[in-house]
Amino acid sequence: MDSLVQPLHDLQKILSLRRENKMTSKVLVTIPLFEEPLQRLKTHYEVTVNPKAEGFSAPELLEAVQGMDGVLCCSLDSITPEVIDAATQAKVFANYGVGYNNIDVSYATQKGIFVANTPDVLNQATADLAWALMLSVARKAVPADHFTRAKQFEGFRPRLFLGLDIYQKTLGVIGAGRIGGFVAKRALGFDMEVLYHNRTRNHDLEQATNAKWVELETLLKTSDFISINVPLNSNTKYMIQEEQLRQMKPSAILINTARGPIVDEKALVKALKEGWIYGAGLDVYEQEPLIEPELLTMDNVVLLPHIGSSTLETRVKMTEMAASNILKVLEGGTPLNWVNPECRAR
Ligand code: NAP
Repeated sequence: MDSLVQPLHDLQKILSLRRENKMTSKVLVTIPLFEEPLQRLKTHYEVTVNPKAEGFSAPELLEAVQGMDGVLCCSLDSITPEVIDAATQAKVFANYGVGYNNIDVSYATQKGIFVANTPDVLNQATADLAWALMLSVARKAVPADHFTRAKQFEGFRPRLFLGLDIYQKTLGVIGAGRIGGFVAKRALGFDMEVLYHNRTRNHDLEQATNAKWVELETLLKTSDFISINVPLNSNTKYMIQEEQLRQMKPSAILINTARGPIVDEKALVKALKEGWIYGAGLDVYEQEPLIEPELLTMDNVVLLPHIGSSTLETRVKMTEMAASNILKVLEGGTPLNWVNPECRAR
């Protein structure tokens, strides 16, 4: 063969082998997601989608990951060292969500597996939900709705469902990052003072909102509304327990749209029962889907079923982003949203 044609021929051969390899790569999607954003994955790879909305049981997950090159998983899946060991082919765990406390990232990194998440696209939806909780608890919207539906409304009464003002109160954001920052920005519309506590100062936020960095204790003692927006990890587990709840004002409202185990749920029950704080709005729980039974009986609590990012637009974007993270890795690159950049691909 001509010396100029040979390299071209070789290249074509390599590309065709690569295409074949692409076709045989396998991707597992552990929950049913939107069909359209998954199409890009399906045109290139053999994709198995678990049809069960409740996800896999632990033994099912162990079996399902075997032979998979990429796994699109979510907070329902505990990606333990055992699962990672079973996923001998896996190059990437792409989480559907920004929080990745369900994945043993350091073990995945040791094994040369990329871990990816879906940041930013869910900021607005989750910040909105934190505000929905603040407003509902302060204005007793949920019990007032139940009252009205029960046909108990008999006309205007001056003391009916007296709530608390939000306007010009103080908002304290624990974890003013991507989502917490937008929770804080929304407070401008309510002419609120904004306090925040991070390990490092968020200067952009300070400029945009006049937010003040304070120690956690100061935030707890002086805020009227407290929004938890830190990630769950060994530093933030039980960040809010009896001691911190006792520091809050009796008129304070605590909102948690981050992760359940950041708050000691039993201590929260005590705080709400004994009036250490006014109320709470929760989207997440310590042992989901279980909830401290007493919370279910309390009128000063609004309980949502982990729907922080659950708007149609946001969930579609999250699916697209998680799928792109897998595509990037299976094409030989690195994920778009990479939580373990120290990882060296296996
Ligand atoms: P992010 O941008 O990383 O923000 C987290 C913030 O927390 C950062 O400002 C960080 O600042 C601060 N922080 C971290 N560790 C801290 C500590 N020990 N003490 C004080 N501050 C600390 O994260 P995000 O994208 O906003 O997401 C936050 C969390 O929300 C996610 O991890 C996820 O679990 C949760 N979430 C829940 C839902 C839902 O459906 N309910 C939806 C989306 C997200 P420093 O690093 O400076 O401390």
